[in-house]
Amino acid sequence: MKKNTRCVHSGSYIDPVTRGLNTPVYTSSSFEYVDMPDNMYPRYFNTPNQKAVAAKLCALEGADAGLIFSSGMAAISAVLLTYLHKGDHVVLQRDIYGGTHYLATADFNRFGIEYTMVSNRIDAIAAAIRPKTRLVYIESPSNPLLMITDIAAVAELTRTHNLVSVIDNTFATPILQNPLALGIDIVVHSGTKYIGGHSDICCGAALGSKEQIAKVAKVAANLGGSLNAQTCALIERSLKTMGLRVQRQSENAARLAAFLAQHQRIAIVNYPGLTTHPDHQLAARQMSSFGAMLSFEPAPESGGAQALLERLDLITPALSLGGVETIICAPAATSHAKLSDAERRELGISPDLLRLSVGIEDVEDLVDDLQQALAA
Ligand SMILES: *Cc1c(COP(=O)(O)O)cnc(C)c1O
Repeated sequence: MKKNTRCVHSGSYIDPVTRGLNTPVYTSSSFEYVDMPDNMYPRYFNTPNQKAVAAKLCALEGADAGLIFSSGMAAISAVLLTYLHKGDHVVLQRDIYGGTHYLATADFNRFGIEYTMVSNRIDAIAAAIRPKTRLVYIESPSNPLLMITDIAAVAELTRTHNLVSVIDNTFATPILQNPLALGIDIVVHSGTKYIGGHSDICCGAALGSKEQIAKVAKVAANLGGSLNAQTCALIERSLKTMGLRVQRQSENAARLAAFLAQHQRIAIVNYPGLTTHPDHQLAARQMSSFGAMLSFEPAPESGGAQALLERLDLITPALSLGGVETIICAPAATSHAKLSDAERRELGISPDLLRLSVGIEDVEDLVDDLQQALAA
């Protein structure tokens, strides 16, 4: 089956009595245990609604097993704390999600975990590996500069060194990129973004082999980041349209990137779908389309990022990403606010950088809004 068919049909549990087409919402947190094979409990990630969502995501990522969490960070922290012990070392891509970056800088040292943050170039990642390295963590496309990491090369490198490889696949979604097929061990998602897709749900996921996910599940049950049945049912519904949404969002983003790239009041556009993007060829190899995130810097004569934000009518300045509505933010003031000025400079995030999360609107309306804001 192809992706849209899997979005609609995979994973749902058909109740044998009513034959309803959707998985019923099982509200119980308590289940009878006599004669039951699993001891069902929400925090063990094994209730029917949790399993239905995990099964749909597994079908979309090509994974054998998966867990659905209460947030992206619950998934990410559970995976990292499963594999990293006191004395271990981890190599992290430098331009990862701000929250993941902060987890490392704020908490790893106090757990006795050492880390090195490096650029997403394969030689930089290779050079950072030490005898005590256990895991390599990457993200592609990255936030907010849309840099592309060579996923197959990282998988190969980690296999040679017997390390666990983890990728945050949030920006690409399981629709556009399947890292497990490229040899990565574990995929994590912030489902708060494209998986939920309507800016009304917080959730996360971790997907991989049966063996890896069983290890993660043990630690995750102790950490407690599980998700309730009602939200799982909403996610199951969201996933049915994820293919359509992401395809439209990606098409709209390509149009907006082309529009901004030719505009004289725009200095820089970062979008992997542009042939001018340094890793356009690599993105074309490992993604089926280039995604719905882009970032840009207005030229100085446009009055700066803040002025542009204030002039936009339809496109809303808002946090987060991946919803059906187009939103914009200044990463320096939002997603990367916890970093120091020096760290932001090192990452290439200027105060004038703006990040667009492109929605499903009619793209002409989005172009018009940017046009009028830039013309003012
Ligand atoms: C939002 C986000 C996260 C964190 O997810 P939460 O659901 O907010 O915990 C992780 N990675 C990426 C790329 C994100 O955009």
